[in-house]
Formats: sequence, structure tokens, C-alpha cells
Amino acid sequence: MTKYVYAFDEGQKNMKDLLGGKGANLSEMKRLGLPVPDGFTITTAACIEYLERGEQLSDEVKTQLQAQLEAFSARTNKAFSADENLLLVSVRSGAKISMPGMMDTILNLGLNDENVEKLARKTNDARFAYDCYRRLLQMFGEVVYGIPMAAFDTYFDNYKETHNYQNDADIPAEGLQEICEHFKTVYIEEVYKPFPQNPLDQLLEAIEAVFKSWDNDRARVYRDLNDIPHNIGTAVNVQEMVFGNSGPQSGTGVAFTRNPVTGEAKLFGEYLLNAQGEDVVAGIRTPQDIATLHEQMPHVHEQFVAVAEQLEQHYQDMQDIEFTIENEKLYILQTRNGKRTAKAAMQIAVDLVEEGVISKNDSMTKVDVKSIDTLLHPTFEAQALEAATVISKAGLPASPGAATGKIVFSAEEAKRQAEAGEKVILMRPETSPEDIEGMIASEAIVTTHGGMTSHAAVVARGMGKCCVTGCADLEINTREKTVTYANGQLFEGDEISVDGGQGDIYAGIVETTSAEHSEAFEQFMAWTEEIARLNVRMNAETTPDIEAGYQFNAQGIGLVRTEHMFFGAERLVEMRRFILSSDDETRTQALNRIRTYQTEDFEQIFRLSGERPTIVRLLDPPLHEFLPKSDEEIDSVAQQLNISTVQLKQRMAELHETNPMLGHRGCRLTITYPELYVMQVEAMMKSVAQLKNEGIACQPEIMVPLVSTVEEFKVLKAQILEAIQQIETDTNQSLHYLIGTMIETPRACLIAGDLAKVCDFFSFGTNDLTQLTFGFSRDDAGKFINDYVNQHILEVDPFQTLDVDGVGALVRNASEQAKAANANIKIGVCGELGGDPKSIHHFHRMPIDYVSCSPFRVPGAKLAAAQSVVESEG
Ligand code: PEP
Ligand code: MG
Repeated sequence: MTKYVYAFDEGQKNMKDLLGGKGANLSEMKRLGLPVPDGFTITTAACIEYLERGEQLSDEVKTQLQAQLEAFSARTNKAFSADENLLLVSVRSGAKISMPGMMDTILNLGLNDENVEKLARKTNDARFAYDCYRRLLQMFGEVVYGIPMAAFDTYFDNYKETHNYQNDADIPAEGLQEICEHFKTVYIEEVYKPFPQNPLDQLLEAIEAVFKSWDNDRARVYRDLNDIPHNIGTAVNVQEMVFGNSGPQSGTGVAFTRNPVTGEAKLFGEYLLNAQGEDVVAGIRTPQDIATLHEQMPHVHEQFVAVAEQLEQHYQDMQDIEFTIENEKLYILQTRNGKRTAKAAMQIAVDLVEEGVISKNDSMTKVDVKSIDTLLHPTFEAQALEAATVISKAGLPASPGAATGKIVFSAEEAKRQAEAGEKVILMRPETSPEDIEGMIASEAIVTTHGGMTSHAAVVARGMGKCCVTGCADLEINTREKTVTYANGQLFEGDEISVDGGQGDIYAGIVETTSAEHSEAFEQFMAWTEEIARLNVRMNAETTPDIEAGYQFNAQGIGLVRTEHMFFGAERLVEMRRFILSSDDETRTQALNRIRTYQTEDFEQIFRLSGERPTIVRLLDPPLHEFLPKSDEEIDSVAQQLNISTVQLKQRMAELHETNPMLGHRGCRLTITYPELYVMQVEAMMKSVAQLKNEGIACQPEIMVPLVSTVEEFKVLKAQILEAIQQIETDTNQSLHYLIGTMIETPRACLIAGDLAKVCDFFSFGTNDLTQLTFGFSRDDAGKFINDYVNQHILEVDPFQTLDVDGVGALVRNASEQAKAANANIKIGVCGELGGDPKSIHHFHRMPIDYVSCSPFRVPGAKLAAAQSVVESEG
């Protein structure tokens, strides 16, 4: 027979699945001999069964409940409605994972018209008894019958006002009695039935209400937000009441064993004398600092400090403890691992290791990967955000950060205004590679189209720049220079604030707080590296990005996207000359000039990388991305190239592709124009030779993109080798290098074993691989992928988190085949999934050596990699 009801001394802390977090911890505290009021827990299994039975308690649950109530009565020597030893209980929810404030609680249950008098006689305090009763009437009405809070509060507040009482505590017994009488009439008015006078009926109705509250809207939203399953149910804890509102020697409070905001190792808490439960959190009276309890009741304070220390040592984590003092006697009502900021989490994790409470491995589980972002970027002040006007909440949080500035609608304008000292935010329907300089000049980028791997998103993340994509509720008109939102319109120069961590846009300048790095952060990140199996590199090509990634101790560069180096104004001209000119000499000259630029670029990159491995990807995008777009641009390019507009348009028509992302791009481009890769390899190896002269032994890794056949790779590898040999001869040096390929097409995955025999390394480009495996355009999927996720056709957006069964299976098979064919092959992942914690857990279990991601995702990726080890060992 299933056991649905457990007395507190029958459970323990590892029974959270069944007893919920609160119930398991109450049992554990009872076992530790701590002063916990007696009680019992009705299990999560009873909740699930109740909901499945169409909200009906089974007879079995009722029978066990009755038996437990009798045992409980015997243990406490108290009973419902007893004249002398009156039993009153609290009924509280408690799921496996704590969901603060999401479900319901009822206190003082067991009071009725008669019992309230008994309580008054016993305590010799009618005021106290009626205060308890009015609270029960209020809470029970709200929680069990859904009576609006205002139906009680308005009367209560009016009563105070008309009688001139400043505080709740000023209302005398008769006043509270009158309030109780009125509250009972509210039941009749609102739900057409009286408040149940039988304590057992109250209890059953309260238990059902808590079970039902599992499915209320706010609980569902909270679970969605925190990845908590919807099918695990909540337990209910029934506990003997102790009264913090029974006079000046009583009180109630909440304390954290360490500061939950800064992590400081000092008890942090608040309490109120002569108060009950929700009074502390409700902010009706200002609570006092826990330290002052020492002056009022030194022995209670001392005892509490000792209990707090014991609980923290026992649970090996910072605790959030609720307590009540009844006539100078301390009771502990709850303990749980305390919620904390990312900064506090890191400080506490490091301190607990240094105090010898937990191991380094354990410390990895104390920091939430998702929270790390808040340590790296400035964030908006919570209060300021609440007061701000929302422009859009429909966007995707493409790249975190809190940015403010004036709206501009073109990359050129962004650049111009930034040069004039303005802080600007670039708003575009979407961005393209030629917007790069405008993006660099902007504080943030906002687009109305595109998903998490659209151009704007990838580039912004790479730069650590705040970015929100896919704001479908905005209309950007770049010609009129307006943004239309639900409640109005904004114009160029208007100020906005962009929350890249949430995907939200606000009007005006919202105040921010800046990021800082503590010693604890550095120490913690060093431990992630010791523990993780996967290395973490960065995807970066500009000096500030590379410097940022190395500040976070990235273990090399996993992807230099060289095309980003072609969009500076002078370079773009030369690239266009190369693509558009039909005269060989002009094309060679153009290439020579690009080579000079590239040599400088590579020298800078390799200098920053030093002896850390650095993957340079040879040119990848379709040529059309380098072509002029508007008529004005076409005219000016024709002039620069000294050809007619007609000729230029004709050449552009030749290069036009219906589906460029599946077209003449990646290594396919250089099957046609081998000189492009040769030029890049020469530039790269020249700079490597130069640095070798200076005593720096660079580790260049030359990567060919978008390969799908072995022959394709072989042809290009031969050309690359020839170019390197030439540089070695010219410089009279023997250079170290690796040559490998990106794995971005399903075909490349399928022939990975054969490819591995001719490659020194593989890097999975999961952006393109996901696009090609699903046949979802990565730039357009943002428009419909949410429908897939909302309708549960896909569990997650596969561009954000690895599709384990499809793309994941390709990556696993390909990496296994590759290692089998070439034991020395190095394998990495450089698509966006390389920075996604959930995907990293999967990559950890494959024969993959490292992941690579945008610089600002490096700390999170390192932690996820370390957590993967702890998880698989645990
Ligand atoms: C990829 O396809 O995963 C990749 C890293 O390359 P890009 O995003 O530049 O196409
Ligand atoms: Mg790619």
C-alpha cells in the first residue's frame, strides 16, 4: 500500500521527491534534534493522484490522514476543539524545488467561533486570539474560496482609518472581533456559503486548495521560467502552530546564513516582534536587523546563531531559515538553500571550499550558469526597470547587456554619430555583414527579424555587444526613420534602453549598475578549468574581443571568421575590385592589397594569442555579400572601379544567386577562385613566420569551411600546403601548423571517418549543420520556430540548444568515426551551441576536445563543462 502521509520523524533530507523540499527538511531538522514544531507531510504522490482524479482526495489518503491526525494529537497532547490543549495548525505547500511565493499557505487553521474564545481564555489575551482568527478568515477565504484579497483588506484598512489606529497592533480585541464578524459576512456575499466551522473540514479543504494551487497561473509561469517540470506536484505540510504574535516576547523572522546579495559570510536577516508569518515579507511594519535580537533576547539570539551554523554545515550550503519565537522560545519553521545573486553565489562557493565545508567539485554546482552573464555585463536597476515604459517584450535575448542610447536606423549614421561622441542604438529590420562598422559603433543592436543565430545575433555575441533580435511587435521604417510600437512611435535621436539579457526594449534611459570582477570570480573560474574535461576556446577576430576572451582565460581561439576583416571601407573596395573586375591585372593588384591588410590583421591576432592554438577559417560567405545594394551605392562603386553602371549591374546579375546560403560559398568559392585561399594562407603564415622570428611559437590551425567531400578538401589542402611551403622557403623557416575542416554539412558527418584520415582537426559548425539537417534557414527560422516550440513539436529551438536526436546524433557518429580513423585528430565545436550549457553537457559525453564560443560566453561554458564532469561522476 502506498504511504501518502509521513510524520516529520519518518522522513529525511533525501526524500525531496516525495516530501517536497520543505517537508524533507522539516523531517531532517527534527532528526537533528532542532526545535521544530511537530507535524506531518502529505506527499507529492497524493497531489499528483488528486489532480489526476479530477481534484478528488482518495479514501486511502483520507484514511491515512485521519490516522496521522490521531497519532499527531497523541504526540502533542493536543486536539482540534479541545478545551484546554487546543490544536491549531498551519498548512503549507512545499514542492521538490522551492517556488517561493508561487503556491499557498494557511495559518491558524482549527479556529472557529468557539475555539477562538478558548484560545482567548487560555492565553488570557482576547486580542491575540481574535487577531489569529481574522488572519485565518482572510487567508482561508483567499486561498480556498478565491475571494479577492481586497474584499477583506479594504474593510480592514477603512476600519483602521475611521478608528484612527496607526498600526494593526493598535486595534483592540473588540475591534478585531467586529472585523471577524464582518469577514464572515464576506464569505456569504462572495461565495454564498459560510466559513466552515469544523476544523477537520477546514483541514481537508485547505489541503485540496494547496494541491490545486500547483496548477495556478503564476506557479505554471514560474516553472516554465525555471525549467521545473509540471508533473511533479507539491507536498503539503501540516504543522502545529507556534505564535509569533502572542506578545512582546514573541516574534517571527527570516534569516540567511550569509548575505544573499554580496555573499559576505555573516548572518543576514530580519524579524518583527509580536508578528505572524507574512508580516515580515508584507512590509507593513519595518522589520529589525537580526543583530538587534541580541539586545532584546540574548539567549534566543545565541541559540539561533548556533542553529544557523549547524544547518549550514549540515546542508553544506547557505541556508534561508524561517523562525518564530513564542514567549522567548525559538522554533525553526523551515530551512532551504537560499536564493542568491550570481556574485553572492560565487563568493559563497569559494568561501565554503576554503572553509573546508565542500569540495571544489561540489562548489561547481553552487553557481547557476545562466546567472554568470549578470556578472559580465552591466545590468539595469530593478526598480528603474519597473518604472520604465515598455516598447517591446517580443524580442529574443540574443546577446546580454544593458545598453542605452539614441536610435539610429543605418550603420553609416551609427558610425557618424558615434564618432561625434553620441551613444547610439542601431535599429534595423535585420543586419548584414556590411553593417559591421555601424554595429561596432553602437551600444546595442535591435532587429525585428531574425533569430538567435541570425547575423546580428552571432556578430553581436561575438563582440559581447548587447543585442535583441526578432522584435516582431515593432515596425521599423528605415526610410521614414521611425519605429512604431503598440502605444506610439519613436524617431531617430529618441533615447531607448535595451535589455539584451531579457530581450526587452524600454523608452528613455534606464539606470544601470556596472559589472565587476571579484577575487572569488577569478578563483572560481580557475577551478572550473581544473575540473572540466572539455577545453573552452573563443570565437573572435577583433582586438577588443580577443582581449576580452583571454581575460576570461579562453584556451585559444576556436574560430576567426576572416570575412569580418573585409568590410572596412578600404578593404571592401579592394574586395569588390577583385570580385567585379574582369581584368586579371586589376584583380591581382586588388588581391595583393588585401594580402597586405590581412598580414597585419593576422599578425595582431597571433600576437594576442601567443602560443595558444588559433583556428583561422578561410573565407566563407557567398560573394554577393560583398556587393553594393542600393542604386546610390552601385553608382559610387562603378565610379571607384572605373566601369559603367550597366557593366557593373551585368556582373552583379551574373553573381546573383537564388539561395546564396546553399550556393557559391565556403570552400566551393575557392574551387572556382583558388587564389583567395592562397592569398589568405600566405598572409597568415607570413605573420606566423614573423612572430617566430620574435621567439613566439604560434599554433595556427587553418580551417576550410563547408566541406562535403574528401576530394574537395584534398584539392584545397594541396593548394594550401604549396602556399605554406613557398612561405617556408621564402622565410627559410620551418613552420608549425595544422590543416583541418569545419563539419557543417550532413554529408561531411556521414563521411567523417574518411575525412579524418586527411585532416588534423575537425570543428563542428553547428549553425550551418543545424540549418542543413533540418532544412531550416537559420536567418528565417526565427519567424516560425517559436510556433514549433509553443506547440511542443520541438522541445527547444535547435539553433540554441542541441537537437540531441538529429544534429546530436550526426555529431556523435562523426566524432566517433573520426577518432577511430585518426586517434590524433582534435575535435571542437564552434557553432553557437558551443556556448550553450545544455548542449555542452551533451558534447562532454562525446569524443570532443573543446567547445568554442563568443568571448562573453566563455565563463559560462567553462562552468558548464566543469558541471558536466561533476554530474557524470555523481
Ligand atoms: C557554423 O556554421 O556553425 C559556424 C560557426 O559558422 P558561421 O556561423 O560563420 O556560418
Ligand atoms: Mg557556418
